[in-house]
Amino acid sequence: MSVAINESVKKIEDKLIQYRRDFHQYPEPAWTEFRTTSKIIHYLKEWGYSIKFNSDIIAEEAMMGVPSEAHLEKCMQRAIEQGADPELVQLMKGGKTGVVAELDCGPGPVIALRFDIDSNDIQEVETDDHRPYREHFSSKNPKAMHACGHDGHATIGLGTAEILASMKDQLSGKIRIIFQPGEEGVRGARAMVEAGVVDDVDYIIGGHIGFKAENNGDLICATNKFLATTKLDVIFTGKPAHAGAAPQEGKNALLAAASAALNLHAISRHGEGASRINVGVFEAGQGRNIIPPNALIKLETRGESSTIDQYMVAEAKRIVQAAATMYDVTCEIKVMGGTSSGTSDLDIADIVAESAQAIPYFTNIVKSMDFGAAEDFAHLLSTVQENGGKGTYYMLGAKRAAGHHDDHFDFNEEVLAAGVELNVRTVLKVAGKAQ
Ligand SMILES: [Zn+2]
Repeated sequence: MSVAINESVKKIEDKLIQYRRDFHQYPEPAWTEFRTTSKIIHYLKEWGYSIKFNSDIIAEEAMMGVPSEAHLEKCMQRAIEQGADPELVQLMKGGKTGVVAELDCGPGPVIALRFDIDSNDIQEVETDDHRPYREHFSSKNPKAMHACGHDGHATIGLGTAEILASMKDQLSGKIRIIFQPGEEGVRGARAMVEAGVVDDVDYIIGGHIGFKAENNGDLICATNKFLATTKLDVIFTGKPAHAGAAPQEGKNALLAAASAALNLHAISRHGEGASRINVGVFEAGQGRNIIPPNALIKLETRGESSTIDQYMVAEAKRIVQAAATMYDVTCEIKVMGGTSSGTSDLDIADIVAESAQAIPYFTNIVKSMDFGAAEDFAHLLSTVQENGGKGTYYMLGAKRAAGHHDDHFDFNEEVLAAGVELNVRTVLKVAGKAQ
């Protein structure tokens, strides 16, 4: 069987590279993955999966950081022009992108595999030292680029789906393949959790190309200590007035925001673990001689545990409100994204490690590593764990042309087939009939 899996993955390797290069050319940031989702659904149906999308997998009230209606409309139109199925695109109205596919293999565990599919808000570089440009598969969408490798994740998801479908008679239980929108800005997982996508899941596997697995052949089987995080936008609204003739009639939103920004960085540390806060954007005012009636700050909090992050958020909200009160302006706080903390189960990581030993690509297999960053897989994982299930998040090593979120980002495509084989072997170990 060992050789057979390797051969069936080899057979689709060229196709995997084509998928990846197609997704790379048409990158779609969070909640606008209309074309990407449409293409994925098309393939999944061909392989006999039952498909769920739209409100069945996305709880509207839990969607965070959704672009404006007008922007969504534009992206839907673009997706259709770029080859998406118009009917499917209409059904994803409101940004309800992403898809969950299921293969029912009879009684047995529910095993979920999660792949994120969104791109970044980055303009891809167009110079000959950048392979995607040189080889004509760089982004066709302005200010959008797959600079994190999610084009590779969507591809690995498709490859895994195709091979597993061809081995259905060797599997038991339910194989659920989750193509998640909006990972960037940690916006998408919560809406899927709230829609019940992982409620009955016994095992969940997710992963990422690169990050701490920096070289070809590296594999980190479990990632620990995901930081919990919350992304907030705060809009302060005051009252404009002539700064020379009648400043007493104005209400200064800029000063309220400035006071908030300074004091947000003065939140006391938490005794139970690491925390972070950053005000990363500050925009305010209209003109030199006008009391500024408007201000916007964008900030994020992080915590080693969800409790610590919630403490940071509660303090941040208190400080923002107090700053608004001090300057007699109003403030609106919008949650733009967020995810919980999380840690992988090492016994599941052992299964991943065992699977990797049969794959020649993986030459440096590491059991586990701390993450020290946020990924909204943590929300899916911790939900599964709270319900008594288990899971792990692996990192697939691949040589990169530049760091994640860099406009020169690119990765060694050999990792695609290796990632597919790793998933297939892991699923077989967990849900194979031979077990
Ligand atoms: Zn990423």
